[in-house]
Amino acid sequence: MQKGTIGVTTDNIFPVIKKFLYSDHEIFLRELVSNAVDATQKLKTLASFGDFKGELGSTNVSVSIDKNAGTLTISDHGIGMTAEEIDKYINQIAFSGAEEFLEKYKNDANAIIGHFGLGFYSSFMVSKKVEIRTLSYKEGAQAVMWSCDGSPAYEMTDIEKSERGTDIVLYIDDENKEFLEPQRIETLLKKYCRFLPVPVVFGKEQEWKDGKYVDTDKDKIINDMEPAWTRKPTDLSDEDYKKFYADLYPGIDEPLFWIHLNIDYPFKLTGILYFPKIKNNIDINRYKIQLYCNQVFVTDSVEGIVPDFLMLLQGVIDSPDIPLNVSRSYLQSDSNVKKISGYITKKVAERLQEIFNSDRKQFEEKWDDLKIFIEYGMLSDEKFYERAQKFVLLKDTEEKYYTLDEYKKLIEGNQTDKDGQLIYLYANDKEAQYSYIETATAKGYDVLLMNGQLDPHFIGMLEQKLGKCRFVRVDSDLIDRLIQKKDNQASAALNEQQRDIMTTVFKSQIPTIEKSDFLVMFEPVGATAQPIVITQNEFMRRMKDMAAIQPGMAIYGELPDSYNLIVNTEHPLTQRIIADTESSCKEQLTPILDELNTVNAEITRLQEAKKDKKDEEIPVADKEALKSAEEKAKELRSKESDVLKTYADKNPLVRQLVDLALLSNNMLKGEALNNFIKRSVDIL
Ligand code: ADP
Ligand code: MG
Repeated sequence: MQKGTIGVTTDNIFPVIKKFLYSDHEIFLRELVSNAVDATQKLKTLASFGDFKGELGSTNVSVSIDKNAGTLTISDHGIGMTAEEIDKYINQIAFSGAEEFLEKYKNDANAIIGHFGLGFYSSFMVSKKVEIRTLSYKEGAQAVMWSCDGSPAYEMTDIEKSERGTDIVLYIDDENKEFLEPQRIETLLKKYCRFLPVPVVFGKEQEWKDGKYVDTDKDKIINDMEPAWTRKPTDLSDEDYKKFYADLYPGIDEPLFWIHLNIDYPFKLTGILYFPKIKNNIDINRYKIQLYCNQVFVTDSVEGIVPDFLMLLQGVIDSPDIPLNVSRSYLQSDSNVKKISGYITKKVAERLQEIFNSDRKQFEEKWDDLKIFIEYGMLSDEKFYERAQKFVLLKDTEEKYYTLDEYKKLIEGNQTDKDGQLIYLYANDKEAQYSYIETATAKGYDVLLMNGQLDPHFIGMLEQKLGKCRFVRVDSDLIDRLIQKKDNQASAALNEQQRDIMTTVFKSQIPTIEKSDFLVMFEPVGATAQPIVITQNEFMRRMKDMAAIQPGMAIYGELPDSYNLIVNTEHPLTQRIIADTESSCKEQLTPILDELNTVNAEITRLQEAKKDKKDEEIPVADKEALKSAEEKAKELRSKESDVLKTYADKNPLVRQLVDLALLSNNMLKGEALNNFIKRSVDIL
């Protein structure tokens, strides 16, 4: 028998392992099973080179629980170890700077395990004693048992063992009894070992017999040895890819597309990424990309490895070259990892381009689901933008799809304004903006549908990237002002006084709508256009759209919506109102306006007189005269507006036209809507 102490430089590694690695206890199973798999594969390799000539026999790895003994055992028929090898690989954990490193990463089990190759020692996180019983494949080897109770002291003795390979026996300690529960172990095996390349046996297959489930003689293999990503793309059918997806994420819709990754240089990486059908409230946390290292599950938090915008994808990435067992910050600074991220981005773009080229119809059919990935990618990754600009699609309100280039060609002729700017018209709600879309299409313009979550940002980006263009929502102004072809001739159909009067008339009939401001304007839009049109300022609206997604812009969210109520001075109905206002109010208004003119003239005179004078030089009488004149003017104006309001209240046509305009913007609600309906019936 050999006795000794394990060769760590800090002689109490076990307390450290026990104490600090609490958060990730369960990974001991992953470590031990993958060691067993490694040992099995090494033997297979030796056999294939003729360096091992014996019977391979079963190469299963098996995991078993003995509740009475309180043990969990991981067994393999791999290469085993001789006493010398145990000495070398288990007893001498040689490393430098151990204490410092342990202190730094004390909360990160993976980092410690990876750094020191402490895979095997992670068994002490859950065990009060660990035994290795092993027989090397080498001819004439002597079986040995190594045991250690968690202190740095170990014992090693020769034993009887006829089967080649290794049993690792864990005497589970009292705090970790959960690892003696078959349910728990099975769950862990399914999580970490589901796709291991060697059969992993846990218990027996069961069958239904005499009203209950009973064990059969057949070993239950918990893993799929040849998962889709390890196979050649040419050997896989669409069905295989879909089935693998359904296995990974049970109960989820079929994916849109997939990408089979396969690279050898400058790093090794395989995998399959899927574009999912994004549902409104898809549970992203449940359906994440899984990261594997030689088919051993490592993690499903892949931040830093996969570009942010591809985190919405699903599937599997497997790379022996990603330093899996290190901490997150280390990972993010690793240059290999950065390359991987760039590579994946490139592959995804290439695959999308390929589908676009070979099957545009399919691409268009799936566009609505795909759009969010591509826009997000273009917004967040310059390189991806470069690639995706060739296949990103714009969809118009007639459900036609265009690439950026195609769309530019489509509208260039007709939608360039007098300053040479290309105007992209868009709607974000086909129903609500129906009449504006109609007006625009009647002019031969095309209107895009931009109703995606990211569209407000995407539009902003396109304006910058494409240059000399502007996106304007179709209801943000009169169409002829959105795309100005020639300078507006100042066809002021109304003089200043008329404008004032009519503004009061129309303004008085706009119902109060919470958080909304209206500016009344008069424009000659043509006799066949609507009598009143309501538009919403593009800039303010965009700011508010952004505010809804970006906390920093919340202030814009607080501001009222500002609308323009544009009265078409060429429409016969509004002309009738203008004429009627004049004739109906003339009698009452004339004396008021005459007096107002006189008072205003007086105000102007007094203001002229006090100009360039210091306050004390102005006669007190003048000051008082100005004050009272100003008060008088105010009073007259309010009289004027009373007259106009009373008139407007009595002329149902004004209110009716205002309401109609509100109605076509879906802004007429509640009482105002009710009144409108009653009034309409009365008029009829
Ligand atoms: P790593 O797997 O990273 O080398 P471990 O601590 O998990 O580190 O294992 C240390 C070494 O012990 C392995 O490299 C291997 O040589 C040996 N070993 C562990 N488990 C087995 C096993 N089941 N069969 C044969 N050798 C093993
Ligand atoms: Mg290992």
